[in-house]
Amino acid sequence: MSFSFDLHLHSAASDGSQSPSGLVADCAARNLAVIALSDHDTVDGVAEAGNAAIRSGIRVIAAVELSADFRGELHILGYGIDPGDARLEAFLRGQREKRRLRIPRIVEKLRALGVPICAGDVAREAGSAAPGRPHVARALVRLGVCADMDDAFGRYLNRDGPAYVGRELPPPADAVALIAASGGRAVLAHPGCIGLDGAGLETLAGRLADYGLSGLEAFYPAHNDVQVGRLLRMCRRAGLVATYGSDSHGPERGVPPGAGWERFAPLIPRVTYDFIDSLATTKE
Ligand code: AMP
Ligand code: ZN
Ligand code: FE
Ligand code: FE
Repeated sequence: MSFSFDLHLHSAASDGSQSPSGLVADCAARNLAVIALSDHDTVDGVAEAGNAAIRSGIRVIAAVELSADFRGELHILGYGIDPGDARLEAFLRGQREKRRLRIPRIVEKLRALGVPICAGDVAREAGSAAPGRPHVARALVRLGVCADMDDAFGRYLNRDGPAYVGRELPPPADAVALIAASGGRAVLAHPGCIGLDGAGLETLAGRLADYGLSGLEAFYPAHNDVQVGRLLRMCRRAGLVATYGSDSHGPERGVPPGAGWERFAPLIPRVTYDFIDSLATTKE
């Protein structure tokens, strides 16, 4: 059976704009049957999303998006993980702590550039969420320093920007192995955005497959048709599953849940639906 799904979504538990239950209601209204909540470095939104899913009649898969060190950064999605897994939870807690420690250093750089911002401005945007650059960007917009989030990233926060601060990240193979060890299935997020050519990607995917990688997020709104075709062939050759995710952080950021679904739905292979069927649904 085929059904509509979106396996890459962020809530306010990380840097998305909607609460987990608000996001689930929005996805149900957009006729998505299965979604994965894949917040950065946290599973804090999964329980609320699971409860909301039961009310909305859609299926929510527990997920997480990990960052790893590779030419700057790449992202690994973990699906069907056990949110209570002790090793995973300890790792995520550590990553969130590194995120928190990074904020005052970003603020310090901004102040040295003459921007009147303090750590409290960012803390107010993040609330109890794991803080990230998008929260700094929102604070800059609220303070009237930047016109919008793109302006904030473009002028200050991008990797090559004057207020960029990195954080310590695990090797990609460790992120994949951690997800596999906690009962989840690991998928390489937005592979077309890593800055590798086809051969480079194939080498990376092959290496990560040895550590338990299950798939590539071939269907991604920012991927062009040539990239999608290449990723699909790569999946077929390496026995990896090709997944779809919008990476929505809230509709007002221009990429709503389900973005690009109409374009990709006719291309999604049978094995992708089987893969989703094999993942555990979030329980209450
Ligand atoms: P961080 O997790 O703190 O390294 O911040 C990275 C996150 O910032 C990404 O996951 C995106 O959600 C977000 N991001 C990157 N570029 C932009 C942009 N130009 N506008 C809004 N959000 C962005
Ligand atoms: Zn994000
Ligand atoms: Fe990502
Ligand atoms: Fe994401």
